[in-house]
Amino acid sequence: MNGLHALNVNFASMQANNKIVIRDLTLEMLTEKIVGFGESAFRAKQIYEWLWKKSAMDFAEMSNLSKNLRALLEEKFTINPITVDFEQKSSDGTIKCRFKLHDGHLVEGVLIPAEYRMTACVSSQVGCNLGCTFCATGFMKVKRNLEPYEIYDQVVLLNRAALAHHKQPLTNIVFMGMGEPLLNYNNVLAGIEKITSENGLHISSKRITVSTAGLAKMIKKLADDDVKFNLALSLHAADDIKRSKLMPINEANNLNDLVKALNYFFDKTGNRITFEYILFDGINESMEDAKNLVALCSKVPARVNIIEYNTIREADFHKSKEEQRERFIAYLETHRVVAKVRRSRGKDIDAACGQLANKG
Ligand code: SF4
Repeated sequence: MNGLHALNVNFASMQANNKIVIRDLTLEMLTEKIVGFGESAFRAKQIYEWLWKKSAMDFAEMSNLSKNLRALLEEKFTINPITVDFEQKSSDGTIKCRFKLHDGHLVEGVLIPAEYRMTACVSSQVGCNLGCTFCATGFMKVKRNLEPYEIYDQVVLLNRAALAHHKQPLTNIVFMGMGEPLLNYNNVLAGIEKITSENGLHISSKRITVSTAGLAKMIKKLADDDVKFNLALSLHAADDIKRSKLMPINEANNLNDLVKALNYFFDKTGNRITFEYILFDGINESMEDAKNLVALCSKVPARVNIIEYNTIREADFHKSKEEQRERFIAYLETHRVVAKVRRSRGKDIDAACGQLANKG
């Protein structure tokens, strides 16, 4: 995937202002350019280190380069960093950041502090075309995919927010923000490669979870590409009729196809799947629904995260009542399904699951 991305660079990375997007270049490509300017290859290494390991967002930060070289870099290249456009802190410590991309588009990321974790929830696309009926992002059509460096920058900036507000670095990263990560496959994998690399942020793949609405073909591709990160499926219903109503993508990727793809993924990677299940009042919370979920869990090595829903103004869904939720979970536990409840965080600032839609 990276190779393919690199091949496209010469054509795709030149901006309208004739500057080259420097973070589209591999170290080899950057070295060639820098040596072409009459500088040593060692300078290219230093620049590369500033760009990734030290997460410089401006050439002016590159303090071990001469003033002339920094000016030349400024003239020929652009870093295209993302910036924090707006930040909101919830009463529970959750922080929502609205990020501005170099072309003015906005995406959101969320920092979720918990007792033993500091999780960054990042976006993969500007908007989303999958139209899940309960999701605020699903009401915004996709504008474009995020670039690998824009995915990387969200992690850098959320880590800075974690250090500034909670004095702790990130421990986990989840791709559960705006967009369907597997529809921006190459860039998401290239971004994760940089996040995990020793030459980048050096965060373990085991701490990263990519969450998909369920594209069977792409799940198999992940397995064939031998990825090391974790995979979560936004399930929300364990029968096709209900799931297709909640998530139209299910019509072309039904549960049978997904079960096959997820088992393929597990067999190749050894990583158990997480099923994300939002309990909606009167929709997917009955004992029949719990029974379907138990049956599904007998077909795939999986654990279940039960997620609390937050109402959005675009759709008429409500979270389950507490006693119904308890009944549902008790049924799963009696049938030996490992289920964790994830209380919703950041509700007061629209940072909770399904609420990201650039409302500011
Ligand atoms: S839940 Fe995810 S896949 Fe579905 S519309 Fe929202 S962002 Fe897209």
